[in-house]
Amino acid sequence: MSPREALHTYFGYDDFRPLQSEIIDSVLSGRDTLALMPTGGGKSICFQIPTLTIASQDENRRLCLVITPLIALMKDQVENLRQRNIQAVAIYTGMSYDQQRVALDNCLFGNYHFLYCSPERLESEQFRQRLTELPIGLIAVDEAHCISQWGYDFRPSYLRIGTIRQTLAQQGKHIPVLALTATATPQVVTDIQDRLDFPEHNVLKMSYHRDNLRYIVRRTETKEEQLIHILTHVAGSAIVYVRNRKRAQELSQYLVANGQTADFYHAGLSAAERSLKQQAWKDDHTRVIVATNAFGMGIDKPDVRLVIHVDLPDSLEAYYQEAGRAGRDGLTAFAVLLYNDTDKAKAKKRVLDNYPPQEFVEQVYHKTMDFLQVGLGSGLNHTFALHLDELCHVMHLPVIQTYAALHLLSTAGWIHFEEERETAPRVRINISPEMLRDYQLSSAQTQMLDRLMRKHTGILTDLQMIETSSNRLPEQDHDTLVSLAQRGIITYLPRTVACALTMTRERADEVWLSDTVYDKRRQTYSERLKAMVEYAEQTQFCREQLLLGYFGEHDAPVCGKCDICIQ
Ligand code: ADP
Ligand code: MG
Repeated sequence: MSPREALHTYFGYDDFRPLQSEIIDSVLSGRDTLALMPTGGGKSICFQIPTLTIASQDENRRLCLVITPLIALMKDQVENLRQRNIQAVAIYTGMSYDQQRVALDNCLFGNYHFLYCSPERLESEQFRQRLTELPIGLIAVDEAHCISQWGYDFRPSYLRIGTIRQTLAQQGKHIPVLALTATATPQVVTDIQDRLDFPEHNVLKMSYHRDNLRYIVRRTETKEEQLIHILTHVAGSAIVYVRNRKRAQELSQYLVANGQTADFYHAGLSAAERSLKQQAWKDDHTRVIVATNAFGMGIDKPDVRLVIHVDLPDSLEAYYQEAGRAGRDGLTAFAVLLYNDTDKAKAKKRVLDNYPPQEFVEQVYHKTMDFLQVGLGSGLNHTFALHLDELCHVMHLPVIQTYAALHLLSTAGWIHFEEERETAPRVRINISPEMLRDYQLSSAQTQMLDRLMRKHTGILTDLQMIETSSNRLPEQDHDTLVSLAQRGIITYLPRTVACALTMTRERADEVWLSDTVYDKRRQTYSERLKAMVEYAEQTQFCREQLLLGYFGEHDAPVCGKCDICIQ
Protein backbone atom coordinates (compact mmCIF):
# COMPACT_ATOMS: atom_id res chain seq x y z
CA MET A 1 0.00 0.00 0.00
CA SER A 2 1.45 3.37 -0.98
CA PRO A 3 1.30 6.36 1.38
CA ARG A 4 -1.30 8.00 -0.82
CA GLU A 5 -3.46 4.88 -0.85
CA ALA A 6 -3.22 4.66 2.91
CA LEU A 7 -4.29 8.31 3.15
CA HIS A 8 -7.38 7.62 1.01
CA THR A 9 -8.24 4.25 2.48
CA TYR A 10 -7.90 4.94 6.18
CA PHE A 11 -8.36 8.69 6.48
CA GLY A 12 -10.43 9.57 3.43
CA TYR A 13 -8.30 12.64 2.64
CA ASP A 14 -7.59 13.66 -0.94
CA ASP A 15 -4.14 15.06 -0.59
CA PHE A 16 -1.22 15.55 1.69
CA ARG A 17 -0.73 18.91 3.27
CA PRO A 18 2.47 20.89 2.74
CA LEU A 19 5.55 19.04 4.03
CA GLN A 20 3.65 15.85 4.93
CA SER A 21 4.86 13.96 1.82
CA GLU A 22 8.45 15.05 2.35
CA ILE A 23 8.39 13.91 5.96
CA ILE A 24 6.74 10.59 5.07
CA ASP A 25 9.26 9.93 2.27
CA SER A 26 12.12 10.66 4.62
CA VAL A 27 10.74 8.24 7.22
CA LEU A 28 10.10 5.54 4.63
CA SER A 29 13.67 5.82 3.38
CA GLY A 30 14.68 4.77 6.88
CA ARG A 31 16.27 8.04 7.92
CA ASP A 32 15.89 9.56 11.35
CA THR A 33 13.88 12.71 10.85
CA LEU A 34 13.01 15.79 12.84
CA ALA A 35 9.87 17.49 11.56
CA LEU A 36 8.81 20.98 12.60
CA MET A 37 5.26 21.83 11.76
CA PRO A 38 2.86 24.26 13.41
CA THR A 39 0.14 22.94 15.71
CA GLY A 40 -2.77 21.77 13.61
CA GLY A 41 -0.48 21.31 10.62
CA GLY A 42 -1.06 17.56 10.64
CA LYS A 43 1.89 15.95 12.36
CA SER A 44 0.13 12.73 13.39
CA ILE A 45 -0.40 11.66 9.78
CA CYS A 46 3.37 11.83 9.35
CA PHE A 47 3.92 8.77 11.54
CA GLN A 48 0.54 7.11 11.03
CA ILE A 49 0.81 6.78 7.25
CA PRO A 50 4.38 5.39 7.18
CA THR A 51 3.42 2.86 9.85
CA LEU A 52 0.45 1.58 7.83
CA THR A 53 2.62 1.50 4.72
CA ILE A 54 5.42 -0.43 6.41
CA ALA A 55 2.92 -2.78 8.06
CA SER A 56 1.43 -3.70 4.71
CA GLN A 57 4.88 -4.88 3.61
CA ASP A 58 6.37 -6.38 6.72
CA GLU A 59 4.40 -8.00 9.53
CA ASN A 60 7.45 -7.84 11.79
CA ARG A 61 7.52 -4.08 11.65
CA ARG A 62 3.83 -3.39 11.90
CA LEU A 63 3.88 -1.41 15.14
CA CYS A 64 4.66 2.22 15.82
CA LEU A 65 5.74 3.24 19.31
CA VAL A 66 4.43 6.75 19.91
CA ILE A 67 5.84 8.64 22.86
CA THR A 68 3.80 11.62 23.92
CA PRO A 69 3.42 13.46 27.23
CA LEU A 70 -0.21 14.48 26.87
CA ILE A 71 -2.46 11.76 28.19
CA ALA A 72 -5.68 13.48 27.12
CA LEU A 73 -4.46 13.79 23.53
CA MET A 74 -3.22 10.24 23.61
CA LYS A 75 -6.70 8.95 24.41
CA ASP A 76 -8.18 11.13 21.67
CA GLN A 77 -5.80 9.76 19.09
CA VAL A 78 -6.38 6.16 20.08
CA GLU A 79 -10.11 6.70 19.89
CA ASN A 80 -9.73 8.41 16.54
CA LEU A 81 -7.69 5.54 15.08
CA ARG A 82 -10.10 2.94 16.37
CA GLN A 83 -12.94 4.72 14.64
CA ARG A 84 -10.98 4.29 11.43
CA ASN A 85 -10.62 0.58 12.15
CA ILE A 86 -6.97 0.87 13.01
CA GLN A 87 -5.93 -1.00 16.15
CA ALA A 88 -4.27 1.24 18.70
CA VAL A 89 -3.69 1.24 22.42
CA ALA A 90 -2.30 3.59 25.06
CA ILE A 91 -0.28 2.92 28.19
CA TYR A 92 0.15 5.56 30.85
CA THR A 93 0.75 6.06 34.55
CA GLY A 94 -2.34 5.28 36.58
CA MET A 95 -3.19 2.11 34.68
CA SER A 96 -2.80 -1.04 36.74
CA TYR A 97 -0.11 -3.59 35.90
CA ASP A 98 -2.78 -5.90 34.63
CA GLN A 99 -4.18 -3.35 32.22
CA GLN A 100 -0.68 -2.64 30.97
CA ARG A 101 0.11 -6.31 30.52
CA VAL A 102 -3.05 -6.84 28.50
CA ALA A 103 -2.22 -3.84 26.32
CA LEU A 104 1.30 -5.10 25.64
CA ASP A 105 0.05 -8.61 24.91
CA ASN A 106 -2.30 -7.12 22.36
CA CYS A 107 0.60 -5.36 20.69
CA LEU A 108 2.54 -8.59 20.53
CA PHE A 109 -0.20 -10.98 19.43
CA GLY A 110 -2.98 -8.83 18.01
CA ASN A 111 -2.90 -6.88 14.81
CA TYR A 112 -2.06 -3.62 16.52
CA HIS A 113 -0.33 -0.74 14.76
CA PHE A 114 0.04 1.96 17.39
CA LEU A 115 1.25 1.82 20.95
CA TYR A 116 1.03 5.21 22.61
CA CYS A 117 2.96 5.58 25.79
CA SER A 118 3.74 8.36 28.23
CA PRO A 119 7.43 9.08 28.81
CA GLU A 120 7.26 8.07 32.49
CA ARG A 121 6.55 4.51 31.45
CA LEU A 122 10.00 4.36 29.90
CA GLU A 123 11.49 4.69 33.37
CA SER A 124 10.46 1.12 34.11
CA GLU A 125 13.14 -1.42 33.25
CA GLN A 126 10.50 -4.11 32.92
CA PHE A 127 8.53 -2.05 30.44
CA ARG A 128 11.62 -1.29 28.36
CA GLN A 129 12.40 -4.99 28.31
CA ARG A 130 8.95 -5.83 27.02
CA LEU A 131 9.32 -3.24 24.28
CA THR A 132 12.21 -5.20 22.81
CA GLU A 133 9.87 -8.12 22.08
CA LEU A 134 7.44 -6.05 20.06
CA PRO A 135 7.33 -5.81 16.24
CA ILE A 136 8.24 -2.11 16.20
CA GLY A 137 8.93 -0.54 12.81
CA LEU A 138 8.98 3.12 13.78
CA ILE A 139 9.42 5.23 16.90
CA ALA A 140 7.51 8.52 16.86
CA VAL A 141 8.50 11.12 19.43
CA ASP A 142 5.72 13.69 19.65
CA GLU A 143 6.35 17.03 21.40
CA ALA A 144 10.02 16.28 20.85
CA HIS A 145 11.15 19.58 22.40
CA CYS A 146 10.53 17.87 25.76
CA ILE A 147 13.79 16.00 25.30
CA SER A 148 15.86 19.16 25.43
CA GLN A 149 16.65 20.94 28.64
CA TRP A 150 16.68 24.11 26.50
CA GLY A 151 13.15 23.31 25.37
CA TYR A 152 10.28 24.94 27.16
CA ASP A 153 8.89 21.79 28.67
CA PHE A 154 11.82 19.52 29.50
CA ARG A 155 10.86 16.02 30.68
CA PRO A 156 13.83 14.07 31.99
CA SER A 157 12.14 10.75 31.18
CA TYR A 158 12.32 11.67 27.49
CA LEU A 159 16.06 11.05 27.72
CA ARG A 160 15.24 7.36 28.07
CA ILE A 161 14.26 7.22 24.43
CA GLY A 162 17.94 7.31 23.54
CA THR A 163 18.55 4.33 25.85
CA ILE A 164 15.75 2.36 24.24
CA ARG A 165 17.23 2.92 20.82
CA GLN A 166 20.56 1.59 22.07
CA THR A 167 19.00 -1.49 23.62
CA LEU A 168 17.12 -2.22 20.40
CA ALA A 169 20.24 -1.62 18.31
CA GLN A 170 22.13 -4.18 20.42
CA GLN A 171 19.59 -6.74 19.25
CA GLY A 172 20.23 -5.73 15.67
CA LYS A 173 17.00 -3.74 15.45
CA HIS A 174 17.71 -0.41 13.81
CA ILE A 175 14.40 1.35 14.04
CA PRO A 176 14.06 4.82 12.56
CA VAL A 177 12.84 7.71 14.68
CA LEU A 178 10.50 10.48 13.67
CA ALA A 179 10.64 13.39 16.10
CA LEU A 180 7.88 15.98 15.87
CA THR A 181 7.39 19.40 17.37
CA ALA A 182 5.68 22.66 16.56
CA THR A 183 8.30 25.12 17.69
CA ALA A 184 11.96 24.91 18.52
CA THR A 185 14.84 27.33 18.64
CA PRO A 186 17.98 26.40 16.63
CA GLN A 187 19.65 25.27 19.85
CA VAL A 188 16.76 22.92 20.64
CA VAL A 189 16.66 21.61 17.06
CA THR A 190 20.28 20.51 17.37
CA ASP A 191 19.82 19.17 20.87
CA ILE A 192 16.82 16.99 19.96
CA GLN A 193 18.77 15.23 17.22
CA ASP A 194 21.81 14.68 19.41
CA ARG A 195 19.79 13.32 22.30
CA LEU A 196 17.97 10.91 20.00
CA ASP A 197 21.26 9.68 18.53
CA PHE A 198 20.53 10.74 14.95
CA PRO A 199 23.48 9.49 12.88
CA GLU A 200 23.12 12.56 10.66
CA HIS A 201 21.05 15.67 11.14
CA ASN A 202 17.89 15.71 9.07
CA VAL A 203 15.39 18.48 9.67
CA LEU A 204 12.28 19.23 7.68
CA LYS A 205 10.58 22.50 8.48
CA MET A 206 8.50 25.28 7.09
CA SER A 207 9.15 28.95 7.55
CA TYR A 208 7.56 30.49 10.62
CA HIS A 209 6.44 33.43 8.50
CA ARG A 210 2.68 34.05 8.45
CA ASP A 211 1.68 36.28 5.59
CA ASN A 212 -1.75 37.23 6.84
CA LEU A 213 -1.02 37.53 10.54
CA ARG A 214 -0.38 40.96 12.01
CA TYR A 215 1.59 41.11 15.25
CA ILE A 216 0.71 43.96 17.55
CA VAL A 217 1.66 44.98 21.09
CA ARG A 218 -0.56 47.50 22.86
CA ARG A 219 0.86 49.25 25.87
CA THR A 220 -2.05 50.02 28.15
CA GLU A 221 -2.82 50.57 31.82
CA THR A 222 -6.46 49.66 31.27
CA LYS A 223 -6.43 46.25 29.67
CA GLU A 224 -10.15 45.55 30.04
CA GLU A 225 -11.15 48.74 28.25
CA GLN A 226 -8.57 48.13 25.57
CA LEU A 227 -9.95 44.65 25.08
CA ILE A 228 -13.46 45.99 24.51
CA HIS A 229 -12.04 48.62 22.19
CA ILE A 230 -10.31 46.01 20.05
CA LEU A 231 -13.28 43.65 20.03
CA THR A 232 -15.59 46.38 18.84
CA HIS A 233 -13.21 47.47 16.08
CA VAL A 234 -12.29 44.07 14.65
CA ALA A 235 -15.07 41.72 13.61
CA GLY A 236 -15.06 37.93 13.84
CA SER A 237 -14.20 35.04 16.08
CA ALA A 238 -11.74 35.69 18.92
CA ILE A 239 -9.66 33.94 21.56
CA VAL A 240 -8.55 35.85 24.66
CA TYR A 241 -5.77 34.18 26.60
CA VAL A 242 -5.30 34.77 30.32
CA ARG A 243 -3.08 33.06 32.87
CA ASN A 244 -5.48 31.69 35.39
CA ARG A 245 -8.87 30.06 35.64
CA LYS A 246 -10.48 32.61 37.89
CA ARG A 247 -9.43 35.44 35.62
CA ALA A 248 -10.87 33.58 32.62
CA GLN A 249 -14.25 33.43 34.27
CA GLU A 250 -14.20 37.02 35.54
CA LEU A 251 -13.07 38.48 32.26
CA SER A 252 -15.68 36.57 30.33
CA GLN A 253 -18.35 37.96 32.67
CA TYR A 254 -16.97 41.44 32.12
CA LEU A 255 -17.17 41.00 28.36
CA VAL A 256 -20.74 39.75 28.58
CA ALA A 257 -21.63 42.75 30.75
CA ASN A 258 -20.21 44.90 27.98
CA GLY A 259 -22.33 43.44 25.24
CA GLN A 260 -20.09 40.66 23.87
CA THR A 261 -21.10 37.05 23.50
CA ALA A 262 -18.33 35.47 25.50
CA ASP A 263 -17.62 32.35 27.49
CA PHE A 264 -14.68 30.94 29.41
CA TYR A 265 -12.70 27.72 29.21
CA HIS A 266 -10.10 26.02 31.37
CA ALA A 267 -8.89 22.57 32.36
CA GLY A 268 -10.81 22.55 35.63
CA LEU A 269 -14.14 22.17 33.85
CA SER A 270 -15.57 18.75 33.16
CA ALA A 271 -14.97 17.21 29.75
CA ALA A 272 -18.62 17.60 28.90
CA GLU A 273 -18.67 21.30 29.77
CA ARG A 274 -15.50 21.92 27.85
CA SER A 275 -16.74 20.27 24.72
CA LEU A 276 -20.03 22.19 24.88
CA LYS A 277 -18.21 25.50 25.22
CA GLN A 278 -15.76 24.63 22.52
CA GLN A 279 -18.49 23.59 20.13
CA ALA A 280 -20.53 26.75 20.74
CA TRP A 281 -17.47 28.81 19.92
CA LYS A 282 -16.66 26.73 16.85
CA ASP A 283 -20.21 27.18 15.59
CA ASP A 284 -19.96 30.96 16.20
CA HIS A 285 -22.69 30.97 18.85
CA THR A 286 -20.04 32.30 21.22
CA ARG A 287 -17.86 34.93 19.64
CA VAL A 288 -15.16 35.30 22.25
CA ILE A 289 -13.68 32.49 24.27
CA VAL A 290 -11.63 33.62 27.29
CA ALA A 291 -9.28 30.81 28.13
CA THR A 292 -6.16 29.56 29.81
CA ASN A 293 -3.51 27.82 27.73
CA ALA A 294 -5.57 24.62 28.10
CA PHE A 295 -7.58 25.89 25.15
CA GLY A 296 -6.39 25.25 21.66
CA MET A 297 -4.92 21.79 21.47
CA GLY A 298 -6.65 19.82 18.81
CA ILE A 299 -8.78 22.80 17.81
CA ASP A 300 -8.64 23.90 14.25
CA LYS A 301 -11.06 26.71 13.56
CA PRO A 302 -9.96 28.38 10.35
CA ASP A 303 -11.61 31.80 10.71
CA VAL A 304 -10.27 33.11 14.02
CA ARG A 305 -9.67 36.83 13.42
CA LEU A 306 -8.19 37.80 16.76
CA VAL A 307 -5.99 36.22 19.37
CA ILE A 308 -5.48 38.59 22.27
CA HIS A 309 -3.12 37.92 25.17
CA VAL A 310 -4.09 39.84 28.29
CA ASP A 311 -1.20 38.37 30.30
CA LEU A 312 2.35 37.73 29.19
CA PRO A 313 2.85 34.13 28.00
CA ASP A 314 5.79 32.16 29.41
CA SER A 315 7.79 32.09 26.21
CA LEU A 316 7.88 33.15 22.58
CA GLU A 317 7.32 29.51 21.65
CA ALA A 318 4.05 29.49 23.55
CA TYR A 319 3.15 32.91 22.19
CA TYR A 320 3.82 31.94 18.59
CA GLN A 321 1.70 28.81 18.93
CA GLU A 322 -1.23 30.49 20.60
CA ALA A 323 -1.14 33.57 18.38
CA GLY A 324 -0.85 31.26 15.39
CA ARG A 325 -4.38 29.99 15.97
CA ALA A 326 -5.55 33.17 14.26
CA GLY A 327 -6.05 33.34 10.51
CA ARG A 328 -5.65 29.70 9.50
CA ASP A 329 -7.88 30.51 6.53
CA GLY A 330 -5.24 32.84 5.11
CA LEU A 331 -7.29 36.01 5.58
CA THR A 332 -6.06 38.96 7.62
CA ALA A 333 -5.98 38.26 11.35
CA PHE A 334 -4.48 39.93 14.41
CA ALA A 335 -2.25 38.69 17.21
CA VAL A 336 -2.40 41.29 19.95
CA LEU A 337 -0.46 41.39 23.19
CA LEU A 338 -1.66 43.77 25.91
CA TYR A 339 1.23 44.92 28.04
CA ASN A 340 2.25 47.34 30.76
CA ASP A 341 5.03 47.78 33.30
CA THR A 342 3.44 45.62 35.96
CA ASP A 343 3.77 42.66 33.58
CA LYS A 344 7.53 42.88 33.87
CA ALA A 345 7.41 42.76 37.67
CA LYS A 346 4.91 39.91 37.50
CA ALA A 347 7.25 38.00 35.22
CA LYS A 348 9.95 38.14 37.90
CA LYS A 349 7.55 36.84 40.51
CA ARG A 350 6.50 34.08 38.16
CA VAL A 351 10.00 32.61 38.26
CA LEU A 352 9.79 32.43 42.05
CA ASP A 353 6.29 30.97 41.94
CA ASN A 354 7.29 28.24 39.49
CA TYR A 355 10.57 27.46 41.21
CA PRO A 356 9.97 27.84 44.94
CA PRO A 357 12.97 27.11 47.22
CA GLN A 358 13.99 23.48 47.39
CA GLU A 359 13.31 23.22 51.14
CA PHE A 360 9.76 24.25 50.42
CA VAL A 361 9.43 21.55 47.76
CA GLU A 362 10.55 18.93 50.24
CA GLN A 363 8.09 20.27 52.78
CA VAL A 364 5.27 19.97 50.23
CA TYR A 365 6.28 16.38 49.55
CA HIS A 366 6.01 15.34 53.19
CA LYS A 367 2.88 17.31 53.89
CA THR A 368 1.20 15.80 50.87
CA MET A 369 2.22 12.29 51.92
CA ASP A 370 0.88 12.94 55.43
CA PHE A 371 -2.31 14.34 53.98
CA LEU A 372 -2.77 11.22 51.85
CA GLN A 373 -1.75 9.04 54.80
CA VAL A 374 1.14 7.39 53.01
CA GLY A 375 3.69 6.05 55.49
CA LEU A 376 7.45 6.02 54.99
CA GLY A 377 8.52 3.22 52.66
CA SER A 378 5.00 2.53 51.42
CA GLY A 379 2.49 3.63 48.82
CA LEU A 380 4.12 2.34 45.66
CA ASN A 381 1.78 2.36 42.63
CA HIS A 382 -1.14 3.88 44.48
CA THR A 383 -3.09 6.57 42.68
CA PHE A 384 -4.89 9.25 44.65
CA ALA A 385 -7.40 11.85 43.63
CA LEU A 386 -5.87 14.95 45.18
CA HIS A 387 -7.93 18.05 45.86
CA LEU A 388 -5.34 20.75 45.89
CA ASP A 389 -7.43 23.37 47.67
CA GLU A 390 -8.16 20.97 50.47
CA LEU A 391 -4.53 19.92 50.79
CA CYS A 392 -3.42 23.56 50.96
CA HIS A 393 -6.12 24.47 53.43
CA VAL A 394 -5.50 21.58 55.80
CA MET A 395 -1.72 21.71 55.59
CA HIS A 396 -1.40 25.51 55.49
CA LEU A 397 0.32 25.67 52.13
CA PRO A 398 0.22 28.46 49.53
CA VAL A 399 -1.66 27.18 46.47
CA ILE A 400 0.42 28.45 43.57
CA GLN A 401 3.80 27.37 44.90
CA THR A 402 2.42 24.04 46.10
CA TYR A 403 1.17 23.34 42.65
CA ALA A 404 4.60 24.19 41.23
CA ALA A 405 6.32 22.04 43.86
CA LEU A 406 4.18 19.01 42.95
CA HIS A 407 5.09 19.52 39.30
CA LEU A 408 8.77 19.67 40.18
CA LEU A 409 8.51 16.50 42.26
CA SER A 410 6.80 14.85 39.33
CA THR A 411 9.46 15.94 36.86
CA ALA A 412 12.12 14.60 39.22
CA GLY A 413 10.29 11.25 39.36
CA TRP A 414 9.42 11.18 43.07
CA ILE A 415 5.74 11.06 42.22
CA HIS A 416 3.63 11.34 39.11
CA PHE A 417 1.40 14.37 39.28
CA GLU A 418 -1.28 15.32 36.83
CA GLU A 419 -3.04 18.63 36.75
CA GLU A 420 -6.58 18.93 37.79
CA ARG A 421 -8.71 17.06 35.33
CA GLU A 422 -11.67 14.81 35.22
CA THR A 423 -10.75 11.30 36.31
CA ALA A 424 -12.71 8.22 35.29
CA PRO A 425 -14.56 6.32 38.02
CA ARG A 426 -12.45 3.59 39.63
CA VAL A 427 -13.43 0.32 41.25
CA ARG A 428 -11.74 -2.53 43.11
CA ILE A 429 -13.52 -5.66 44.34
CA ASN A 430 -12.42 -6.45 47.87
CA ILE A 431 -14.01 -9.87 48.29
CA SER A 432 -12.98 -13.03 46.44
CA PRO A 433 -15.59 -14.58 44.11
CA GLU A 434 -15.93 -17.63 46.38
CA MET A 435 -16.63 -15.50 49.45
CA LEU A 436 -19.14 -13.43 47.49
CA ARG A 437 -21.52 -16.41 47.52
CA ASP A 438 -22.07 -15.81 51.23
CA TYR A 439 -23.48 -12.35 50.58
CA GLN A 440 -27.14 -11.56 50.00
CA LEU A 441 -27.06 -9.51 46.82
CA SER A 442 -29.75 -7.93 44.69
CA SER A 443 -29.78 -8.98 41.05
CA ALA A 444 -28.49 -5.55 40.00
CA GLN A 445 -25.57 -5.98 42.37
CA THR A 446 -24.78 -9.50 41.13
CA GLN A 447 -24.94 -8.41 37.51
CA MET A 448 -22.71 -5.46 38.21
CA LEU A 449 -20.07 -7.62 39.91
CA ASP A 450 -20.18 -10.18 37.10
CA ARG A 451 -19.78 -7.49 34.51
CA LEU A 452 -16.87 -5.89 36.33
CA MET A 453 -15.02 -9.18 36.71
CA ARG A 454 -15.57 -10.11 33.11
CA LYS A 455 -14.45 -6.78 31.68
CA HIS A 456 -11.62 -5.91 34.04
CA THR A 457 -9.04 -8.54 34.80
CA GLY A 458 -7.15 -7.50 37.88
CA ILE A 459 -10.10 -5.79 39.49
CA LEU A 460 -9.67 -8.09 42.50
CA THR A 461 -6.26 -6.61 43.28
CA ASP A 462 -6.10 -3.09 41.82
CA LEU A 463 -8.41 -0.18 41.32
CA GLN A 464 -9.52 -0.30 37.71
CA MET A 465 -10.66 2.64 35.68
CA ILE A 466 -14.17 2.25 34.36
CA GLU A 467 -13.79 4.23 31.19
CA THR A 468 -16.83 5.62 29.46
CA SER A 469 -16.86 8.23 26.75
CA SER A 470 -17.93 10.99 29.13
CA ASN A 471 -16.41 9.47 32.28
CA ARG A 472 -19.95 9.40 33.59
CA LEU A 473 -21.72 6.20 34.60
CA PRO A 474 -25.47 5.78 34.18
CA GLU A 475 -27.33 6.82 37.33
CA GLN A 476 -28.43 3.26 38.28
CA ASP A 477 -24.91 1.88 37.86
CA HIS A 478 -23.59 4.59 40.12
CA ASP A 479 -26.25 3.77 42.74
CA THR A 480 -25.48 0.07 42.56
CA LEU A 481 -21.76 0.75 43.03
CA VAL A 482 -22.45 3.01 46.00
CA SER A 483 -24.59 0.31 47.61
CA LEU A 484 -21.81 -2.26 47.14
CA ALA A 485 -19.21 0.13 48.50
CA GLN A 486 -21.32 0.80 51.60
CA ARG A 487 -21.16 -2.88 52.42
CA GLY A 488 -17.41 -2.95 51.92
CA ILE A 489 -17.66 -5.33 49.00
CA ILE A 490 -15.97 -2.93 46.65
CA THR A 491 -13.94 0.28 46.83
CA TYR A 492 -15.50 2.89 44.56
CA LEU A 493 -14.02 6.23 43.59
CA PRO A 494 -16.63 8.05 41.55
CA ARG A 495 -15.76 10.45 38.75
CA THR A 496 -14.21 13.59 40.16
CA VAL A 497 -12.46 16.66 38.97
CA ALA A 498 -9.21 16.53 40.86
CA CYS A 499 -5.48 16.27 40.45
CA ALA A 500 -4.17 12.74 40.16
CA LEU A 501 -1.14 11.74 42.16
CA THR A 502 0.47 8.37 41.55
CA MET A 503 3.27 7.00 43.71
CA THR A 504 6.01 6.00 41.28
CA ARG A 505 8.22 5.15 44.26
CA GLU A 506 7.63 4.36 47.88
CA ARG A 507 7.53 7.35 50.18
CA ALA A 508 11.11 8.46 50.80
CA ASP A 509 12.33 10.17 53.94
CA GLU A 510 14.33 12.67 51.91
CA VAL A 511 13.73 14.10 48.47
CA TRP A 512 15.90 16.36 46.37
CA LEU A 513 15.86 17.95 42.94
CA SER A 514 18.83 17.55 40.65
CA ASP A 515 20.48 20.33 38.66
CA THR A 516 18.68 19.25 35.50
CA VAL A 517 15.32 19.33 37.16
CA TYR A 518 15.75 22.54 39.10
CA ASP A 519 18.64 24.93 38.45
CA LYS A 520 18.92 24.50 34.70
CA ARG A 521 15.22 24.57 34.12
CA ARG A 522 14.77 27.62 36.28
CA GLN A 523 17.45 29.34 34.29
CA THR A 524 15.92 28.47 30.91
CA TYR A 525 12.51 29.45 32.18
CA SER A 526 13.69 32.89 33.22
CA GLU A 527 15.62 33.37 29.97
CA ARG A 528 12.50 32.54 28.01
CA LEU A 529 10.44 34.98 29.98
CA LYS A 530 13.10 37.59 29.37
CA ALA A 531 12.85 37.05 25.62
CA MET A 532 9.09 37.43 25.94
CA VAL A 533 9.48 40.72 27.84
CA GLU A 534 11.92 41.96 25.22
CA TYR A 535 9.44 41.20 22.49
CA ALA A 536 6.79 43.16 24.37
CA GLU A 537 9.02 46.12 25.11
CA GLN A 538 10.95 46.56 21.90
CA THR A 539 9.93 49.53 19.82
CA GLN A 540 12.42 49.50 16.95
CA PHE A 541 12.46 46.29 14.95
CA CYS A 542 9.77 44.57 12.98
CA ARG A 543 7.94 42.22 15.35
CA GLU A 544 7.67 39.34 12.98
CA GLN A 545 11.34 39.65 12.11
CA LEU A 546 12.18 39.50 15.79
CA LEU A 547 10.01 36.45 16.28
CA LEU A 548 11.41 34.65 13.24
CA GLY A 549 14.96 35.52 14.32
CA TYR A 550 14.26 33.81 17.62
CA PHE A 551 13.46 30.64 15.70
CA GLY A 552 16.63 30.94 13.64
CA GLU A 553 15.30 32.65 10.51
CA HIS A 554 17.69 35.58 10.48
CA ASP A 555 17.26 36.62 6.87
CA ALA A 556 13.51 37.28 6.92
CA PRO A 557 12.42 40.60 5.34
CA VAL A 558 10.53 43.15 7.47
CA CYS A 559 6.87 42.18 7.47
CA GLY A 560 5.41 45.62 6.70
CA LYS A 561 2.26 44.86 8.68
CA CYS A 562 3.11 44.74 12.40
CA ASP A 563 2.51 47.74 14.65
CA ILE A 564 6.15 48.75 14.40
CA CYS A 565 6.34 48.51 10.60
CA ILE A 566 3.27 50.68 10.12
CA GLN A 567 4.08 53.28 12.77
P1 ADP B 1 -0.73 18.53 14.88
O1 ADP B 1 -0.30 17.32 15.63
O2 ADP B 1 0.31 18.99 13.91
O3 ADP B 1 -1.16 19.65 15.77
P2 ADP B 1 -2.86 16.86 13.93
O4 ADP B 1 -2.04 15.71 13.51
O5 ADP B 1 -3.59 16.72 15.22
O6 ADP B 1 -1.98 18.19 14.00
O7 ADP B 1 -3.85 17.21 12.74
C1 ADP B 1 -4.72 18.31 12.79
C2 ADP B 1 -5.95 18.04 11.95
O8 ADP B 1 -5.64 18.04 10.56
C3 ADP B 1 -6.59 16.70 12.22
O9 ADP B 1 -7.97 16.88 12.32
C4 ADP B 1 -6.21 15.87 11.02
O10 ADP B 1 -7.12 14.83 10.78
C5 ADP B 1 -6.19 16.91 9.92
N1 ADP B 1 -5.34 16.53 8.78
C6 ADP B 1 -4.06 16.13 8.83
N2 ADP B 1 -3.57 15.87 7.61
C7 ADP B 1 -4.57 16.12 6.74
C8 ADP B 1 -4.69 16.04 5.31
N3 ADP B 1 -3.67 15.65 4.55
N4 ADP B 1 -5.88 16.37 4.76
C9 ADP B 1 -6.91 16.77 5.54
N5 ADP B 1 -6.86 16.86 6.89
C10 ADP B 1 -5.71 16.54 7.49
MG1 MG C 1 -0.01 16.62 17.55
